[in-house]
Amino acid sequence: MKAAVYYSHQDIRIEELPMPKLDEDEVLVETKACGVCGSDLMDWYLKGRAPLVLGHEPAGVIAEKGSKVRDFKVGDRVFVHHHVACLTCHYCKHGDYTLCEQFHNTNIKPGGFAEYFKVPFKNLQLDTLMLPQPVTFEEATLIEPVGCCLRAIRKSNIQTGDSVAVIGAGTTGIIHVGLSKIFGAAKTIVSDLFDFRLTVAKKFGADVLVNPEREDLDSIVKAETGGVGVDVAVVTAPSLDAYKSGMRICRKGGRLIVFAPTAPGKYLEVSPKELFFSEVQIIPSYSTSHLETREALDLIASGRLNVKVLITHRFRLVDTAKAFKTALGSKESLKVIVLDK
Ligand SMILES: [Zn+2]
Ligand SMILES: [Zn+2]
Repeated sequence: MKAAVYYSHQDIRIEELPMPKLDEDEVLVETKACGVCGSDLMDWYLKGRAPLVLGHEPAGVIAEKGSKVRDFKVGDRVFVHHHVACLTCHYCKHGDYTLCEQFHNTNIKPGGFAEYFKVPFKNLQLDTLMLPQPVTFEEATLIEPVGCCLRAIRKSNIQTGDSVAVIGAGTTGIIHVGLSKIFGAAKTIVSDLFDFRLTVAKKFGADVLVNPEREDLDSIVKAETGGVGVDVAVVTAPSLDAYKSGMRICRKGGRLIVFAPTAPGKYLEVSPKELFFSEVQIIPSYSTSHLETREALDLIASGRLNVKVLITHRFRLVDTAKAFKTALGSKESLKVIVLDK
């Protein structure tokens, strides 16, 4: 079978790999669509592990199953979560599923940018979801990103009537705008350097659009919140400047959500004195668990979150290198997906 093997961003090769061999409690999925994630574009994160097959936002059809598999059949349309928690360790018992050791060690094989991938038993058991008929494979690639945003928005303890600022209007930034509205935010302020993204954010309910190249986010937030600052600031852009802005625009007692990692070796200066008196909470949120993926699927299936609009580019598997190039370089791209064959 064909797979796109990642050596570096400049070097993604289509190679012939052996078909994965199934155990009796596993299934083989024929990939129909898989999203390119922001984390697929972080060279520092992947360098040490290359060569490897990326792709963790996959949807497809079960092509083969082991003799002991009962809950799924050949032909089922599914989304598969690549990481699954053990549910029994210290972290899991505290609800910190994404910090579970098993969570990191589980994965689909070889990855979503391949004609087929195998779903190990643990992934099949906990977080392989049947797609209801109206949900297309393309839409299903957004289940994982929406899940990540849901987890973050829950951690932000958002309240009805809150003001929310989202810094960085890439795919997940825009999803945060949509979710904030669903969770009752009264006002959403979105900042991004690309006007195209701001236009799409508006479709998801953004009330105030800010391009910091031309406008001053701090003073706009001040004016829009009666001088108080926002209740929640979500930073989805992996830059220190974005985090510094986030700190400045949070109200006293507000919550700053750390949603995007900066490159290693970058540090944000915080003053315990200022933090103490401002009671701004800094809340990181990494990845998503089996709890949010189900909710994400419901939001997509019910049409409450119209994720289709986020898909700007589609490529065939043989053109995965072009897909990465577009996701990295185009000012008019949001979610780039790779389709079968
Ligand atoms: Zn992802
Ligand atoms: Zn665990």
